[in-house]
Amino acid sequence: MDQFERRDFLKKATIGVAGGVAALAGCSPASDEKPGAPAVHTRKKYEWKMVTTWPPHFPILGEGADMLARWIDEMSGGQLKITVYGGGELIPPLEGFDAVSQGTVEMCHGAAYYWAGKAPATQFFAAVPFGMNGQQLNAWIYSGGGLDLWQELYAPFNLVAMPVGNTGVQMGGWYNREMNSIADFHGLKMRIPGLGGKVIAKAGGSAVLSAGGEIYTNLERGVIDATEWIGPYHDYLMGFFRAAKYYYYPGWHEPGTALELIVNRTAFEQLSSDLQRVVETAAARSNAWMLSEFEAKNSAYLGKLTTEHNVVLRRFSDEVLKTLRGFSVEVENEVAEVDPMSKKVYASFDAFRKNIDPWAALSEKLYYSAIGG
Ligand code: CA
Repeated sequence: MDQFERRDFLKKATIGVAGGVAALAGCSPASDEKPGAPAVHTRKKYEWKMVTTWPPHFPILGEGADMLARWIDEMSGGQLKITVYGGGELIPPLEGFDAVSQGTVEMCHGAAYYWAGKAPATQFFAAVPFGMNGQQLNAWIYSGGGLDLWQELYAPFNLVAMPVGNTGVQMGGWYNREMNSIADFHGLKMRIPGLGGKVIAKAGGSAVLSAGGEIYTNLERGVIDATEWIGPYHDYLMGFFRAAKYYYYPGWHEPGTALELIVNRTAFEQLSSDLQRVVETAAARSNAWMLSEFEAKNSAYLGKLTTEHNVVLRRFSDEVLKTLRGFSVEVENEVAEVDPMSKKVYASFDAFRKNIDPWAALSEKLYYSAIGG
């Protein structure tokens, strides 16, 4: 019996038999099968696992993954239950891609740039220096063909991808010296991941990889000269204001980093279409929730950093930003040349970014100026 026949059957059972509604509304399979009751088929239940690249219940990101699982449970009437595991609880944090691809677990919440080693084009679905902000990136993904390309990229890995969260514009990072000109990047040792790290390397610095738990100590001991993390809320929680003097903006390297949910394609296709829509709808809700949460928390904690801890805010000069932007274009084009899929994804991303510019110039950009921001 396929899902449409089953739905039709359930409908007839509901209409035709007194008490059918109650039976459908939550009786257990055992009660459906009591003598004399109609043979109502209980919908199949699923128990899935979701791993994350974040520590357990990590602010906003891990909390969002927890809420996503809860919403799917509630929206499906308990039909799809998902147990969430923080990074390292079930598997190491950055092994989620393989685990979901192989079906060891059904879902992973993380960010696409963690999988650059699997497919370089993944980076265009997370963070591109001087790329689009969160709103624009969602526009490309949902309405500009990005989502179809994302599925095309992940299909060979037996994965379905969905945007689930966005950090908004990040901060430029914590530095223990002033960054007045591009020459100040020479010899700079900075913890900065992804394409931004490649830009720093072109500027004469070196990108250092550190696990989240080691960054503060490395910064305090001078193992690194600078670090970026996310924005005021998370950076406050990490305590970076105690280890570095200058807090630079804007976060040119991550102007609106998208987070992602990946789902094992085989498992996803086994769900009835209504359950698939539940997963997609909960994912979309979670996508909006995380961006909203970042906006609200970052504004509150920026104030705490400057008023309670006298953090010195510094803006990168136009000359520094212009030079870094030039390096960024080189980096993007290098990624696009790695394989045909990277070229295809970058072409779409870059065209959308260029096309959205004239509209942004006379809408958001002008509006911010007009209100004195
Ligand atoms: Ca970051």
